[in-house]
Amino acid sequence: MHPPSNHTQSRLLYAQSLKFLPGGVNSPVRAFKAVGGKPVFITRSRGAYLYDADGNTYLDYVGSWGPAILGHAHPSVVKKVQNVAARGLSFGACTELELILARSITSAFPSIEKLRLVNSGTEATMSAVRLARAYTGRTRIVKFNGCYHGHGDGFLVKAGSGSATFGVPDSAGVAPRVAQDTISLPFNNAQSVLRTFERKGREIAALIVEPVAGNMGLVLPEPGFLETLREVTRHYQTLLIFDEVITGFRVCFGGAQHLYNITPDLTCLGKIVGGGLPMGAYGGKKEIMELLSPQGPVYQAGTLSGNPLATTAGIENLKILSTSKTVYSKLAATTKAFCEGVKEIAAKREVPLQVTQLGSMFTLFFSKKRITNYREACACNPTMFPRYFRTMLKGGIYLPPSPFETNFVSTAHTKRDVAKTLEAADKAFRLLKRT
Ligand SMILES: *Cc1c(COP(=O)(O)O)cnc(C)c1O
Repeated sequence: MHPPSNHTQSRLLYAQSLKFLPGGVNSPVRAFKAVGGKPVFITRSRGAYLYDADGNTYLDYVGSWGPAILGHAHPSVVKKVQNVAARGLSFGACTELELILARSITSAFPSIEKLRLVNSGTEATMSAVRLARAYTGRTRIVKFNGCYHGHGDGFLVKAGSGSATFGVPDSAGVAPRVAQDTISLPFNNAQSVLRTFERKGREIAALIVEPVAGNMGLVLPEPGFLETLREVTRHYQTLLIFDEVITGFRVCFGGAQHLYNITPDLTCLGKIVGGGLPMGAYGGKKEIMELLSPQGPVYQAGTLSGNPLATTAGIENLKILSTSKTVYSKLAATTKAFCEGVKEIAAKREVPLQVTQLGSMFTLFFSKKRITNYREACACNPTMFPRYFRTMLKGGIYLPPSPFETNFVSTAHTKRDVAKTLEAADKAFRLLKRT
């Protein structure tokens, strides 16, 4: 693999895209605004690698923002999708594939008795909140600063990730009345949750949380935090919604709820569940889910929901993840090897660094102090990450282009890939100290 040298085609395509797409992109973070420089245009991918329009090769840690846990273009997934595609892309009618995927999801998540398939994580979270409001007859929701739950109006209040990157806590165009129903609290602060519920508990329909926060960089729940959320929501008869769009099938097959042994009332899924095609899902207790139309009064529909391609990619991904006994331990070992290595390099190069890791997810925070919430994530060194990112990209390592994101490792990442990444990080840290 040669370091990327030429970006002529990418530059050209970006300049043209700027004329037709706002910011040249279809999702803000892709524009590289938080790191400087211009985006590279990808033409194909395979395993742990991306290939751009100029023929450059990159070792990838974005993994399409999570779905690519088996690496890109996994041969058996691609083959299954191709076969299904040849029989028709979408029918807008019932298929057995939906049933197979529903069985697979419910067997992985005992808290999900019934579920509905949608087309994105955003749809899953928006619909779950509508359902929670219908079930409880209340309107307020509680979320946490720096947690991202898609771009639904009510969630765009201190929403981490893309919006954190741009320093826009509230999006323009969100009606103030809608935002008023959202209470956003500091992650990992159980006291503030308890105080809020003491005052307003009977008005709160749902508390939604990323049980492991992945959109302010990776931030783990402090011991007891998730337990407090479960207890207080149960006490006030508020629904607890786990947004496992990232963590579902990622931290382990049964998601963060299995790992931390907490049973939420509703769960939102996305990313891995569609195996790289547009898909989300939400589900939970039967008595709640049965409020959904056509069984109940809560309306939610989708022309392409549960379409054969996305369900096939999902089914195949889940099949591979559930049948291999070692997949998650191998993913964690690869990731740990990088995280331990990079800590040593940071110490040697005297770069202030905190590394958060869980399974195949990790984030490097350029900070002397451990990161437990969004405020602390925002207080990291503001110039080190963009410089680190750009040096890594020059070295052929494609990282998430924002300090508030999680890196994703796939089963296709090898020990050699880790060594290559560490070598590039060593060089990047050396340059960080030079100015
Ligand atoms: C990505 C993400 C979403 C939104 O999913 P989309 O498919 O991008 O709409 C929601 N919640 C979390 C935790 C996410 O990481």
